[in-house]
Amino acid sequence: MHDLKPLEPGVMFWAERDTLDQVRAFGVRCGQMCIPGDMQLTDAAAEKWKSELVVVTMFAAYNGEDYADIPTVRRTVGFVPHDTREERERRTCEISDFAARLGVPGIACHIGCVPEDAADPDYVAVRDVVRRICDHTAGHGQTFALETGQEPARALLTFIHDVNRPNLRINFDPANMILYGSGDPIEALRLLGPLVVSVHCKDGDWPPRGVPGALGRECPLGEGAVGVEQYVRTLESVGFRGPLNVERETEDQQQRLRDIAGALKLLRSIRPS
Ligand code: MG
Repeated sequence: MHDLKPLEPGVMFWAERDTLDQVRAFGVRCGQMCIPGDMQLTDAAAEKWKSELVVVTMFAAYNGEDYADIPTVRRTVGFVPHDTREERERRTCEISDFAARLGVPGIACHIGCVPEDAADPDYVAVRDVVRRICDHTAGHGQTFALETGQEPARALLTFIHDVNRPNLRINFDPANMILYGSGDPIEALRLLGPLVVSVHCKDGDWPPRGVPGALGRECPLGEGAVGVEQYVRTLESVGFRGPLNVERETEDQQQRLRDIAGALKLLRSIRPS
């Protein structure tokens, strides 16, 4: 991938929330671009976001998604909610087209909390949406990656095998495994490693005990339960060579930018073995 080094630190940034100058100020050469649900995917937008940065993934976020707690995620995120399913499938294909215009080799999103029962009508519908999106992205030579965390690793693997499309991959987010209480991220990475096409470097704590439906708390990289050095070593050991994209979501934008800078410093201090 261009002249990037293996496991080169990068940044997950938001089109419209962040600027290219802010991303450049981190001193990175690569990253992932997240597209807000209401962004117009025009020629002017493509022109604006063309840059020397190597964008490895374009992420789709959708209008109406809410990550307040697990029941709200179930109700609002990805392709599980009926009312927005068709519109979000269309939007995802448009993002694939937009990514192609910018030369981005893959797209990704949260598909939501897919039922584990393969006979559930929502399971079947979401699987079919994912198949169609894979076929659309394959037309651009792109991968389509599912973000980890909203289900245990083994359930994700079973789902991917059932979808049965060669360009269906994983964007591995270790913090999500913890925030949703979906299992140990290092074990999950060992299981899913061959399918991981891109990663997030994000940290967090496990959900509080005795609060049903609560999510864990995201925190700056290095301050949560992920174990960043072990995470990077495990990525190396499963053969991953792509960028280490720092992701940080917090309301306060200045805090967010400071935390991203701190995370990059931490990743740069972990030397490849
Ligand atoms: Mg993530």
